[in-house]
Amino acid sequence: MKILYNLEELEIAKNEYKQGGIAFVPTMGALHAGHLSLINKANSVADKVIVSIFVNPLQFGPNEDFTKYPRNIDKDLALLRNKKVDYLFYPSFTKDELLKIKQVSAEPKLADILCGKFRKGHFDGVATIVNYFFELIEPNYAVFGEKDYQQLKIIEAMVNNLSLNVKILAAPILREASGLAMSSRNVYLNQSSRLKADEIYKNLNSMSEEISKILAGGIERNKKIQRIIDSYKEKFINSGFELDYLEYHWSRILIAARIDGVRLIDNMPA
Ligand code: AMP
Repeated sequence: MKILYNLEELEIAKNEYKQGGIAFVPTMGALHAGHLSLINKANSVADKVIVSIFVNPLQFGPNEDFTKYPRNIDKDLALLRNKKVDYLFYPSFTKDELLKIKQVSAEPKLADILCGKFRKGHFDGVATIVNYFFELIEPNYAVFGEKDYQQLKIIEAMVNNLSLNVKILAAPILREASGLAMSSRNVYLNQSSRLKADEIYKNLNSMSEEISKILAGGIERNKKIQRIIDSYKEKFINSGFELDYLEYHWSRILIAARIDGVRLIDNMPA
C-alpha cells in the first residue's frame, strides 16, 4: 500500500492506476470492520483500490466533535495493510484551504430533512469534500455505507446533478454482535451507554416487522405507520434517549438519537 500525503504524490499514483479501473473508499479513519467491508466491495469491482482518511472540518458544526473525533492512524494503517489496498490518500488540508475549493451545495430536498435539520451545513461540507476528492482521484467507482443513508442519497443526487463520471456503490450496515451499528463514534460509549444503545437495533427490528405487516395490509398505511413511529418515539424517550428524529423515508426507518451525550444514527428497511 502506497501512502499519498499530498497532491503531487496523488498525481504520480494516478499515472500508475488510470489505465485500469480504480474504486475509492472515502473515510474519516478510526477504521472498523464496517469500513473494511466497503474495501471488500471496492475490490470486487475494480483492479485497484484507493482509501482516503481525512477528518473533514467542513462537515462539522462549531459545537460538534471535530477536534475530539477519534484519530488512530497507526491502528488504521495496520488494518489497511491486512487488506488489499493499493493506495491510501492521507492529506492534511486545512479548513482555510478547503474554503478555497469549489463549494458544493447538497440537494436541499435531501439535505434539509433528518440529520440536516440538526446539523446545519453538514451535508454541504460532505458534498464539497466528496466532489473535490472525486475531481482529484477520478475514481471509476466510489463505495459508501448505508449506515449513513441520507449521505448516500445526497452523494447519488450530487453525482447525478453534476453529471460526474463515477459509479456510486452502496454497502450494507455492519453491526456488532449485539446489533449496534459499527461506528467510529462508538468509542465514546461507556459500558452502560453501550448496553442502552443496543435498544436501537432491537426497536428498529420490531418496528420493521410491524411496519411490514401494515404495508402488506394496504389501507391507511401512512396513518398506521405514523402511529407505530409515535409509540416507539415514546419508548425511546422513556428509556433515556434524546431523539433528534425517528422517521420513515425511502422505505426505511431512520433514527438519530443521543444516549449519555453520544449521538448515534442507524436505519433499517421496512
Ligand atoms: P466515516 O469514516 O464514518 O465517515 O465512514 C466512511 C464510510 O464508511 C461511509 O460511507 C460510511 O457510511 C461507512 N460506514 C461507517 N460505518 C459503517 C458500518 N457500520 N457499516 C457499513 N458502512 C459503514
